[in-house]
Parts: sequence; structure tokens; C-alpha cells
Amino acid sequence: GVLGSGDFARSLAIRLICSGFKVVVGSRNPKRKAGLFPSAAEVTFQAEAVKKTDVIFVAVFREHYSTLCDLADALAGKILVDVSNNREINHHKESNAEYLASLFPACTVVKGFNVISAWTLQSGARDGNKQVLICSNNQEAKRIVAEIAQVMGFTPVDMGFMSSACEIENIPLRLFPAWKIPIFLALGLFLCFFTYNLVRQVIHPYIREQKNKFYKIPIEVVNTTLPCVAYIMLSLVYLPGVLAASSQLYYGTKYRRFPDWLDQWLQHRKQIGLLSFFCAALHAVYSLCLPMRRSHRYLLIETAVKQAVEKKMSIWIEEEVWRMEIYISVGIIALGLLSLLAITSLPSIADSLSWREFSFVQ
Ligand code: NAP
Repeated sequence: GVLGSGDFARSLAIRLICSGFKVVVGSRNPKRKAGLFPSAAEVTFQAEAVKKTDVIFVAVFREHYSTLCDLADALAGKILVDVSNNREINHHKESNAEYLASLFPACTVVKGFNVISAWTLQSGARDGNKQVLICSNNQEAKRIVAEIAQVMGFTPVDMGFMSSACEIENIPLRLFPAWKIPIFLALGLFLCFFTYNLVRQVIHPYIREQKNKFYKIPIEVVNTTLPCVAYIMLSLVYLPGVLAASSQLYYGTKYRRFPDWLDQWLQHRKQIGLLSFFCAALHAVYSLCLPMRRSHRYLLIETAVKQAVEKKMSIWIEEEVWRMEIYISVGIIALGLLSLLAITSLPSIADSLSWREFSFVQ
């Protein structure tokens, strides 16, 4: 059973029908809403729908839960699945699922499906997030909902008791929680090195020799900053592993907890590594663009004119040619290796490798 006839209710009903379930939809206005559902779904009044089913998905916003209180008697003894989300993190004192359970004490409430969007439901589990996080104080109800999720093609994840509902409801609202520290770290490093390179390449020549090199800021200064950030970020990926190993050797045990800062650092290694790769990739693109700049062309022509005035026919310096060829070649190989590290750290690839293969690549 599905209470509500909005986007989520519609997608859920379609997915359930495609997975072989019989679906009854409860709406305040079934006549108007029936056309929105596939013909296999029975769309009827709320009171009628809850009588016909034992597992009922409440696809209604929390603010409207109290309007369902008239159905309390008909709902007694049934499983209610709370699929709702909030508009803000920790918006209410108690989770929506706990609130629903308090309104319907005779029902068993299970929190679940809120991390799946209506779009993912319609397009199928293959095109989106596959995990359905479930929690409830009733093991049997949780098992039934988990089974439904599995038949629908999703992967149920048992999150324990109802006290986890708040955490589950916050998940869709969090914006890249694991990336916050690595991004601030990368930005901080970028700012430090950018300032250093700006002083070195632009401000210093301006103060000492009155040379105007401000045109270097958008490309050259940024391009010398990016590899510095990439290298430091890459070393920050491997440094905590060394520190952790040293700490284990020092204390002679692997069962001692690492300090919190080291624990956090170890957990952010993948994100730090991917940001290192991002900076290196940008550096490669910026470097390719260097000869395209007008300033570069002017400097080239200036050199040619000077050469003509000095009647020099050739300025070929063998050593410099070799240095540049090797320099670029090593840069390309480094970027290739870094790409390999980045790709193998992605969960879909990493999961297909054995531990030995993964650590060999690392
Ligand atoms: P929606 O399109 O606005 O639909 C809400 C439905 O609630 C309405 O169609 C209405 O159906 C029903 N309803 C029952 N009592 C109501 C009342 N007193 N006032 C207003 N509406 C009432 O919202 P939705 O996007 O389907 O979301 C429904 C629930 O699913 C929400 O709790 C949301 O947090 C959750 N959710 C949605 C998504 C998503 O991608 N959309 C993802 C995860 C979770 P009737 O008029 O037929 O009664």
C-alpha cells in the first residue's frame, strides 16, 4: 500500500508493480489522481487502501502526518514505512519516523527508502544509488521491508534500531561530507603556494626592476601553483600510513587506537588523492595552453627579431632541447601513473581488485 499520490508515491508504485507486487494507492482524491498511475495500480480513498494492505508506504510529508490520524484504527497492527526527508539537517528534535510512531502507537514503523529519489525508483536500481538504509525497533518488520527492497533490485542495509532514523534522514541533505576537509586542505595549500608564486614571479620583479608581469597571474602563476598542491596532496595520501605503521611499531601492537586526527586523516586519503589528481590534470591542461597565449607569441617574435638584428642564424642548444624533451616526457608518465592510482581508488574498480592487486598498484 502507498499513502499519497505525489512524485515519490507514483515512482514507488511503478517500481513495485514492475517488481511483481500488487499495489493499492490511498489518496484524498482518487478520481483525480488515478490517471497518474499505471492501470495495474488500484487507486482508492486512503481508508479503503489501508484496509487492503499490511505494509503501507507513507509517501506524505511529515507536516501532513497528523491529517492521517483518522486512519489510526484501520492502521493498527500494520507496518508503516516512513520514506520522508526533511528540508534541513536535524530540523526536528525527533526524527520523522519516531514522530510517525508516536502518532500511531499501534503500528510498527520502519524507516527506509528515503535515500532513494523518485527518479532512481523510476529508472531502476541500476541507474542510481542501490542502497536502501533501513531501521526499526521490530526485527520482523525490518526483514519484510528489506525483502521488498531486495525484490525491487535494491540492496537493503540494516541500520539497527529506530534511534538511527535521524541519521538516515540527514543523509540525503549532507553535501559531500567526506570531501569537506580535503577540499579545505587543497584550497589552503593553493592559497599559500599561489601567494608565494605571486610574490616571486610578479611582485618581486615589479618592486626590484619595475617590470610589469601582472599578465602572468591567470595562467603562469596558477600553473606553477597547481603541481605544488598536487605533490603535497599526494604525499599526504601516503604519509598517514607511514605514521600509523610507525605508531604500531613503537607501541608494539596493532590493537591500540590511533589518535583521532590520524584516524580522520587515514579516512580521507582517497579524497586527498583524487584532489591531487585533479590538480595534476589541471596543470597538464594549463601547460598545454602555455604556447597558445598571445604573450608567448610576442616574446617569441621578440626573440626572433633580436636574433635577426644580431644576425644569429641558429639558437639551437642541444642540452636545453634534451632537458625539455625529458622534462615533458617524465611529466606525462607521472600524470599517467597518477591517473592509474586515481582510477584504481574508485570503489567500482577497487572492489574488483584483490587486496594484493590494490596494494601492488598503490
Ligand atoms: P508530493 O509530490 O508533494 O506528494 C505528497 C503527497 O502527499 C500528495 O500527493 C498528497 O496525495 C499526499 N498528502 C496526504 N495528505 C496530505 C495533506 N494533508 N496535504 C498535502 N498532501 C497530502 O511529495 P513527494 O515528492 O511525493 O514526497 C512524498 C514523501 O516522500 C515526502 O515525505 C518526501 O520527503 C519523501 N521523499 C521524496 C523523494 C522524491 O524524490 N520526491 C525522495 C525521497 C523521499 P493525495 O493528494 O493523493 O492525498
